Amino acid sequence: MRSVVAGLAAATLLLAGCTSGSDDSGPPPDSGSGASTAATSGTVQPVAGDGKVATDDPSLDAALSTPVEDRVYPQVGDPGVDALHYDLDLAWTPGSETLTAVETLVFRATSDADRFQLDLGQALEVSSVTVDGEDASYDHDGKDLVVHSPVAADRRYTLVVEYAGHPRPVAAPTTRSDFATLGWTVTDEGEVWTMQEPFGAYSWYAVNDQPSDKALYDFTISAPAPMVGVANGELESRENDGGTTTTRWHLDEPAASYLTTIAIGDLEETRDRSESGVPVSYWTPRDRPRLVRGLRPAADELDWLEDRLGPYPFSSLGILLVDSRSGMETQTMITLGMTDYTTSPEVIVHEMVHQWYGDEVTPSDWRDLWMSEGMALYLQGLWQAEHDHFSVRGLMQRWAQAEPQMRRAAGPPADYDPSTFGEGNVYYSPALMWDQLRRRVGDETFWSVVRSWPRAHEDGNASYDDLTSYWSARTGLDLGPFFHAWLLGKTSPRF
Ligand SMILES: [Zn+2]
Repeated sequence: MRSVVAGLAAATLLLAGCTSGSDDSGPPPDSGSGASTAATSGTVQPVAGDGKVATDDPSLDAALSTPVEDRVYPQVGDPGVDALHYDLDLAWTPGSETLTAVETLVFRATSDADRFQLDLGQALEVSSVTVDGEDASYDHDGKDLVVHSPVAADRRYTLVVEYAGHPRPVAAPTTRSDFATLGWTVTDEGEVWTMQEPFGAYSWYAVNDQPSDKALYDFTISAPAPMVGVANGELESRENDGGTTTTRWHLDEPAASYLTTIAIGDLEETRDRSESGVPVSYWTPRDRPRLVRGLRPAADELDWLEDRLGPYPFSSLGILLVDSRSGMETQTMITLGMTDYTTSPEVIVHEMVHQWYGDEVTPSDWRDLWMSEGMALYLQGLWQAEHDHFSVRGLMQRWAQAEPQMRRAAGPPADYDPSTFGEGNVYYSPALMWDQLRRRVGDETFWSVVRSWPRAHEDGNASYDDLTSYWSARTGLDLGPFFHAWLLGKTSPRF
């Protein structure tokens, strides 16, 4: 997930050796940065994308999921829907801050029902819903879009939703200082960016907004030039027609909705490549060309991570800079705020680790956020220790001093208070746990299991039980009590 609290805490601990890291370091937001006044009064209409797929397309099988009801945020998502492919045709009119959209969703019903439900922000007005080409009736109360159309278990359907409006971000269930709202965010200049963990994708499209339901994506984004739309995956085409820029993006491996990203602004692309051959692109504001230089270490960092985690799991990697104060491991297109910290090499390492831990294998529900964050922070710390020349043991001692307070404040990492999403407890406790486990089983075994876990759950989801039993099986040790103490203990384990 976004790393700023962890990052701030890491930076605080590293630099000052102090406590919880929950202080706001208060980096001045680069408000207005990267903006060119591109607003026009004309309305931009969606352009039909070419990403439509038939319900029986075999490529959709990669997106089959076992959706669950979230234990932490049960009000979001619905296990009756298994989304397979979202085709989102989005047109942005910055002058009036209007989003006009045509969404085509192919989904599998998980059970027989006389209706099904998606999440869609109330600020968006639905004008038409069809199921397999037939008009369907619907209710849209609050954020719940309920479609009154019977569905049968394991059958696949094509839903088309047309909607428009002024998207509003949603409140974040956290006390963190780097973000208070989630989802579609508009700058003073009418530019757009999104970050949406643990939910909030529903602020801009109709979605089963829960991490167990991964899906494939195609995006078509239209906006007045010089604005350009950026999203997950690979850029398939870019056209300029009558002053409107239209880009098409294709994500060829399934992603959870919190890992989608979209930005619309006056951005330019710079291309790079890792030594291992992964294409890397940087999307930065045209009027801040120096920012690219700070991102350049990313290609080398990717090689460093591949040495430890195995081959990069996706076909491309991008880094997108936006007017945020946080950072987010959005799949194949990392989204970073333009602060000194969120564009630092260690934060880029952190978000890259997530491409394996969080994106390739994703927690089934939000209780297990620790599964992603612990490994991301641990490798971030190892990278910093190596590059800044300090000892891992010393770093772990400093983290260990701060960790009990984080656990007291927000609860055990795998049973945290829902109003404290993404606090230090889900980062530092499991990072220390991984270091303890490495020392216990030895480097060779530890890294072998760390590498094999994402591959064993390629494009999938996993739970606490899945991960802990996997480690016990692979090491031949009964690690249940060890994981329980670290992840569910009310007080910190003694070590
Ligand atoms: Zn993270």
